[in-house]
Amino acid sequence: MEHNTPLYSAYTPNLDYLASIGLNGLYHTYKQGVAMPSEIAHFLMMGYSLKEFPGRGYLEAIGEGIEIKEKQVGIIARLVSVKLHENKFLLLNRNPKVKQEYIPKIVNEIKYFEYKNIKIEFIPTKGLRGFLKISGSVSPHITDSDPFYENRYIIDICPTDSSTQAKSTSACIREYLKWSFNKLNNHEINIELRQKNGMYPVNMVITQRAGQKKSLMNFRQKWGLKGLSISSQAIYWGLFKELGFDIVKTKDTKDPEADLAQRLKIAIQSKEYSFIHVHTKMPDKAGHLKDPVYKKDIISCLDRAIKVIKDEIILDPELLVVITGDHSTASSGRMIHTGESVPITMVGQYIRRDLVTAFNEIDCAKGGLGMVKGDELMYLILNFMDMGKLKGLMDTPEDQPYYPGFYTPLSM
Ligand SMILES: [Zn+2]
Repeated sequence: MEHNTPLYSAYTPNLDYLASIGLNGLYHTYKQGVAMPSEIAHFLMMGYSLKEFPGRGYLEAIGEGIEIKEKQVGIIARLVSVKLHENKFLLLNRNPKVKQEYIPKIVNEIKYFEYKNIKIEFIPTKGLRGFLKISGSVSPHITDSDPFYENRYIIDICPTDSSTQAKSTSACIREYLKWSFNKLNNHEINIELRQKNGMYPVNMVITQRAGQKKSLMNFRQKWGLKGLSISSQAIYWGLFKELGFDIVKTKDTKDPEADLAQRLKIAIQSKEYSFIHVHTKMPDKAGHLKDPVYKKDIISCLDRAIKVIKDEIILDPELLVVITGDHSTASSGRMIHTGESVPITMVGQYIRRDLVTAFNEIDCAKGGLGMVKGDELMYLILNFMDMGKLKGLMDTPEDQPYYPGFYTPLSM
């Protein structure tokens, strides 16, 4: 059994029961083989296209309650430890440890910057992490500077399109990053941290995943469903808020079973919504640790919370239950996320059945759904909610996939 995945090996009687009465398959939010980050994967799952994606730096910032106005750019930023090596910045430590009392002093040194009419503000969130809010004639179409892995050089900021805004935004951030190093490297706090405690200095800001507000069709208008999202991280709060969902902010405690049970309970009580997204980050977090046994245990633990779906939720014939993941997070290898598909099961009164009796990557591959990709998920949901529209009927100017749409009655 040595080649089994954590999900295949986990004891999951409740997920298996749902698979046995459900329609099963595999799902990828984009293209097979592409390792997806959660924010883009969730955006595509909700039936939006890649070119509409506003960028994580914007979505996560607004999820943290930071205001990024329409023409501004938001970028994920963090303070790290680097050293100059052959005139380049080598990343020594991406998560340097610093006493809480030092953080405001460090942040104050690099909080505001201006270069050729572009302004940068560093807004801290947790520890040494935060966001850059960038204003002026700016663009999110720029590269990251964060190389993601230690012992690599900080990346030069380059424009990713030919606009003057992308060029000037790149130039401004490039100057800001170098300025942050000059301000911090010989700062008394770093001399104290280095010399007295032998710790890594905190001496540079690095950035990744710029974003900007885009005008998006509201989820309700797009799919005819009133949405609620119940999750535990700022990126989901920002993303779903931007799509027009109501949000329930929850916390991850040391008890993932209780956390998921509580989220499902909130979902059961939220009768005024027609689409509820209930999320747990735990299998992904466990995958990141590259500890397959721990991930297996986490999945078994979440399965116990899922008992309520079997015992209560599916008893309501009006409900369609969909269980899947936004991407694969393998417990082996070097990749942070991986590009293979994940299992999916759908349970409801209008689904077609298949012969699958267990919820995992191997059994679901034999299921009746086959391989589902991208926005097909939302079309399948409408279909199995018995509210899909016959292709070609036009009751609204935008071709909506549900029927009836929010159409305008003819007046006399
Ligand atoms: Zn992850």
